[in-house]
Amino acid sequence: MPEGVRLVAVSKFHPVEALRQAYDAGQRLFGESRVQELLQKIPQMPDDVQWHFIGHLQTNKVHQLIGRTALIESVDTERLLNFIDRKSEEAGVVTRVLLQVHVAREETKFGFLPEEIFDYFRARKFESLQATHICGIMGMASNSDDKQLVEHDFMRIREVYDEVLRIAPDLRGFDILSMGMSGDWPLAVSQGSNLIRVGTAIFGNREY
Ligand SMILES: *Cc1c(COP(=O)(O)O)cnc(C)c1O
Repeated sequence: MPEGVRLVAVSKFHPVEALRQAYDAGQRLFGESRVQELLQKIPQMPDDVQWHFIGHLQTNKVHQLIGRTALIESVDTERLLNFIDRKSEEAGVVTRVLLQVHVAREETKFGFLPEEIFDYFRARKFESLQATHICGIMGMASNSDDKQLVEHDFMRIREVYDEVLRIAPDLRGFDILSMGMSGDWPLAVSQGSNLIRVGTAIFGNREY
């Protein structure tokens, strides 16, 4: 693993035994994409595990997640962001999040468009958050064998991250660029990723 790059072991759909093996090998950072599954796994794993939520999050499940995650990587609308903020304030905790940006072709319909993110920071709306800290950007490249396309997608995600810092140079703690999965993480790292989310390459194929 290149220096300065952290690894999220994406354990969704894998049994707790698999997570324990990874834990025993030293892994402390795990990623889950479904609220129920995460809540089931948390009490079965040691307390020093850090959990990242990486899936599409519905507002009606937010209250269950608040206070349980080290980072919610997949905030994909301003409405969800504000909802997380309200629920965090009510619970008396600060929630750390990434904004998910959508650049890939078809793959996922989730995520902010780059322009929506720029508008958000230009209007300095983050200043009105009471209990939420935006720590950076998460994105996915197109699910494609075309390396140039994938590299281009990562470059665009990186540019979104850089542009936010140009728009709001006084932002504090905006230092996470999460991109790269099993099939494309070396390319993501070469484009500046410092957080990769790897499932299949660690745990094998998922059984849905
Ligand atoms: C499932 C998932 C991953 C891991 O994908 P692999 O190809 O198994 O490494 C990474 N990021 C997100 C957002 C995911 O949903």
